Amino acid sequence: MTQITGNLFILAAPSGAGKSSLIRALLTKHHHGDLCPSVSHTTRAPRPGEVDGEHYHFVSKAEFEAMIERGDFFEWAKVFDNYYGTSKAAIDQTLEQGKDVLLDIDWQGARQVKAQRPDTATIFIAPPSAEALRERLKNRQQDSDEVIEQRMTKAKAEISHYDEFDYIVVNDDFDTALKDIEHIVFGQRLRGHQQRQRHRTLFEALLGG
Ligand code: 5GP
Repeated sequence: MTQITGNLFILAAPSGAGKSSLIRALLTKHHHGDLCPSVSHTTRAPRPGEVDGEHYHFVSKAEFEAMIERGDFFEWAKVFDNYYGTSKAAIDQTLEQGKDVLLDIDWQGARQVKAQRPDTATIFIAPPSAEALRERLKNRQQDSDEVIEQRMTKAKAEISHYDEFDYIVVNDDFDTALKDIEHIVFGQRLRGHQQRQRHRTLFEALLGG
């Protein structure tokens, strides 16, 4: 039987939109391996509790630049003075196994991926209001006021690209936003070209005789 290639999903959002919690919930719910996260490379320092190889592959600037030179990246971007990138190895193997891959990347990465693979489903998660966004950014204990203001500015920069995405989810109620994302995932899996492959014998039988 032909193995059907998995689907690629991108989730982008300004920080403070609740993207990380949504991704965590999504991956916990789909832990049977049908939806896999891609582990990015980054030059930023690990935050407390972050594990190398799980949350990110933490590398030096020199290592990252060497990977760019070698053409190891599917996409990469500079965000807040640090490099972030998705290696080709991080996704291709999983897609070939027929599993769906979820990329947690910014708009710059989304644009690069979409250009290379137009059938990628790109999803933008928005906060429900400007006040909620500011409150959520303030709640991040480990960042200074200056960093919060910087994040607010960067958040607006990210939001300004909202119209480049295939899907938009407003994260007002967490469970509703989670269901919205699941519906997008399920919808992608039912697209005609994949269903035709999956159900080839069915259609042969339906049209035969
Ligand atoms: P953080 O430092 O908070 O983990 O992530 C900062 C931003 O970088 C987030 O918007 C996140 O989506 C983005 N990011 C993380 N990994 C990648 C990646 O591999 N490529 C791109 N383009 N952006 C990424």
